[in-house]
Parts: sequence; structure tokens; C-alpha cells
Amino acid sequence: MTHWCDLTIEQLESDLRRWGFAPSHAKPLLRQFYALGQVPTDAPRFGQRLFDRLATELAPVQSTVATEAVSTDGTRKLLIAFPAGGAVESVLMPSTKPGTLAGCLSSQIGCAMGCDFCASTRNGLERNLTAAEIVEQFIHLKRAAHEAGQPLKTIVFMGMGEPMHNLDAVLDAIRKIGDPDLGGLGWRQITVSTVGIVPGIDRLADADLNVHLALSLHAPDDETRAQLVPMNRRYAVAEIMDAARRFYDRTSRIPTIEYCLLAGVNDSPEQADLLGRLLDGFRAHVNVIAFNPIGPGLSGKTYERPTLEQVFAFVDRVRTHGVVAHARRTKGDDVSAACGQLRQQFVALVPSPSGRGLG
Ligand code: SF4
Repeated sequence: MTHWCDLTIEQLESDLRRWGFAPSHAKPLLRQFYALGQVPTDAPRFGQRLFDRLATELAPVQSTVATEAVSTDGTRKLLIAFPAGGAVESVLMPSTKPGTLAGCLSSQIGCAMGCDFCASTRNGLERNLTAAEIVEQFIHLKRAAHEAGQPLKTIVFMGMGEPMHNLDAVLDAIRKIGDPDLGGLGWRQITVSTVGIVPGIDRLADADLNVHLALSLHAPDDETRAQLVPMNRRYAVAEIMDAARRFYDRTSRIPTIEYCLLAGVNDSPEQADLLGRLLDGFRAHVNVIAFNPIGPGLSGKTYERPTLEQVFAFVDRVRTHGVVAHARRTKGDDVSAACGQLRQQFVALVPSPSGRGLG
């Protein structure tokens, strides 16, 4: 059965024509679907016969919010469960622009990347999400934003999973979320984050979608980075920085460099200098965010959160190299803020496709 979240306007026009209805209904129907977050059923101008046909031909939003955690800072973490099995975290948080909200979407259930400071990877990769499952997360967040009385203005693919390893579905979802006649967000409001999958970065640039790129760097040297991000053994720092430069040259969008600061691991003045030199002559914005403890990583090592003073000292040192750098506030610290933690907590509640708990 075709899913509402899989439809383009052209597809629905063609279906309506085939079913004997006016194709001109496609655009208003899809607009209403995205505005309401559910299948429209009560617009008299379309007629009951059309709604009856739509109900038999098209699947509505399938996923449900299995649980939710709300932080004192307003961050809402939703655990979204899919009937096909598995669950992901999607997050709604206060944006840098006052009075608006930002959303964080997952691209996979679990993650194969094995980053040592991340809870999402502890049980490996369960499966890729479909484009419709990604769009459904957006619909749930949009509904939550509506309840909060603030508009959802930006989306980052920075939740569970490596978006470049499920890029076809991610690009399909982005096209729908950003389309003014569908999700209506605008593609420039969307950021795709990666640990540095070089072919994926090049494909994202070639997709010509006008989205932003965020590179999860976390260390400026290969030795430290390979400890934190195993994928660095495949794509070294120099290679991924070259890919980020190509992305900028191709799209004119300034990449963001994400840097999760871990006390005593990647926060030394020398590493700040190395990061500054790495970005010399390159237009990029560095976001430094203090690590949220998750217990032992896959390597067995337990990382510590740096103090606020250490975060600011690192940012200041990077700035001495003329690099634009900011300390980013962690959101929702009191509600399992680190990526994958909410899912870890509720993992036994949601059956996986294989019938076992996701954990
Ligand atoms: S940080 Fe991102 S890419 Fe790395 S393991 Fe976690 S979810 Fe996967």
C-alpha cells in the first residue's frame, strides 16, 4: 500500500486521474496532510467518495510516539516506534532563533559507525529507515511544535544513524520535507551531518538541494580521531576536509564542523591549535559541544565531560586562528540528552523486527 508520506504531488495527481477524480485535488490534499499531520477527512469540497477511496488506497501515518521526555529547558525527546519494527529518537529543541524550534531526525535504527562516545551505536545497526519513516518523524515533531505554540524552523539529520549510509532515503525525505507544497520547511533550513563518508558528501553536493553539511570531526589529528570515530581509518581527516571544501565550492554553503569535547582526550591547547591550522583559509563554522556522559564506550573507556571553563578555553584558542567557533549549549541535559540514550532506556518496550528487544 502506498504511504501518504511517500507521495509526490505528481504521483497523487496521476493516482487521482486513474481513480476518476480531479488531479487538481492533489496539491491541496497533500498540503492539508502535512499541515494537519494526518489524513484530511472532512473537507466537504473534496466529497466523501474521494475520502473513502483515499482510505482504501493510501496508508496514513503508521508510527507512534512510544514515550516522550521533556527537559526543563524545553527540549522534547520523542521515541518513535514503527509498525515494521524498531524505534528511533527524534528531538525538538529551542532553536538559536528565539521563539522558534529546531528538530533532530534519525536516519537509521541503531548505527554501525561505532563512535566511542555515542550510545546509539552500542547495539550496532538494526536497519535503515525508509523515506516515509523519516518524513513521519518530521510530522511528529511538527505536531509537537504546534502543541508548544512555536514553529518548527530547522531540521538536522544528527540523530541516530549515519545519514550518508542511507542517503537515497534521506534525500527522498529531504525533498518532501523541504518542498513548499509538502513539508514546507525549505531546503536551506535542513542540515545533514556525517562522520565523514566522502562519497556521501560528494553525492549530497551533487544532489543540488541547497542543504547544509555538518561534519562530525571531533579531533583534528588522525590518531585521536580514529580512537573516537573508527570510520576515520577509512576516510582520514585530510580526505574529509577536502570533501568539505568540494561541498563548499559546489554549493556555496558553509560547512559546520561539529566537535564533541571530551575532557583530557581532544581538548588540549595543541589540539585547538591544530584544529585552527586545519581550517586555515577554509570557510567553516566550528560548534564545540561538551560531551554528555553515557558510561563506558564500545572500547570500554569511560569519557568525562569537560568543565564550562575548559569548553570556553578551547573555543577561544581556536578563535585565535581566525576561525569562527562557538560553544554550543547542550540541550535537554536532564532527559538523557546524549544521542541514543532515550532509546537505550526504553529499548525493552519496543519490539524489533526480529522480535527481540532493540537492546
Ligand atoms: S555519533 Fe552518529 S555516526 Fe557516530 S555512532 Fe553515533 S549515531 Fe552513529
